[in-house]
Amino acid sequence: MSDQILQGLLKNKTIRFAAITGRELVTEARRIHSLSRTATAALGRELLMVAMMSSQLKNDTDSVSAILSGGGPGGNLVCVGRKGPFVKGCAGDPACELPPKENGKLDVGGYVGRSGKLTVVRDLSMKEPYVGMCHLVSGEIAEDFAEYFTASEQQPSLVYLGVRLEPVSGQVLGAGGLLIQPLPDCPAENVDYVMAKANDIPHLTERLSKGECLKDILFSLFPQGDVTFTEELVPAYRCDCSRERMERALMSLGREDLEEIIEEDGQAELSCHFCNSRYTFTKAELEAILREGAGA
Ligand SMILES: [Zn+2]
Repeated sequence: MSDQILQGLLKNKTIRFAAITGRELVTEARRIHSLSRTATAALGRELLMVAMMSSQLKNDTDSVSAILSGGGPGGNLVCVGRKGPFVKGCAGDPACELPPKENGKLDVGGYVGRSGKLTVVRDLSMKEPYVGMCHLVSGEIAEDFAEYFTASEQQPSLVYLGVRLEPVSGQVLGAGGLLIQPLPDCPAENVDYVMAKANDIPHLTERLSKGECLKDILFSLFPQGDVTFTEELVPAYRCDCSRERMERALMSLGREDLEEIIEEDGQAELSCHFCNSRYTFTKAELEAILREGAGA
């Protein structure tokens, strides 16, 4: 079954939700970065979240970035989403593996760390991007994003994120997420109604792994009359790096550094953190960038 995001409304349109099944995009992230099991679960959860947040973007130049810097052995986890939604992400130490927790689950909180913060940058193609942050709650990512929405955006939210792996091969069996947000003026009893479902939601990924379709699972959580679907999207892992972007990165190094590279290395090879694409610049090309930069 291919990846999908469903957006919709619950309970007389007083609550909005986004739901995702994203096995393919998490598998692609695992392949690109050779992620360990714990890293697959951690980066996978963040990618699912950013994909849901990016499903609301309207312009091609809009983006949502989330940076988890928890001080754990996994280093910083950065994910960026664009309209599509297309997501990309990278982890500080993609190979780092931790022993599972006592309950047998992957130690995502240990990998991310719990002492830092979550920063979210929403660039909606206006003058200034909106930057919000919160302190991490557990490093388990779903709880951290729920805290972010509540503390930084004053938007109480129910967040579920799950990635299930085959225990021996580490292959991604299922990846699912759900973001539920009461709209302004939502009656308290409708919020209670959603909260009462919270115990059933963790089965989402397990059920996706068994081949159930996302829509059917949502209908089993919420009766048909309570759900209205408003949009259906196909998310994907896709990087938007280009030679022009790399040129701009070189230009931003500044004159002295660029001159040093030209003299000492005679060329430059840059690789993209998000997709590992390599870009080589010859001496003549670097000199042209230097001239262009000097003119700017
Ligand atoms: Zn790239």
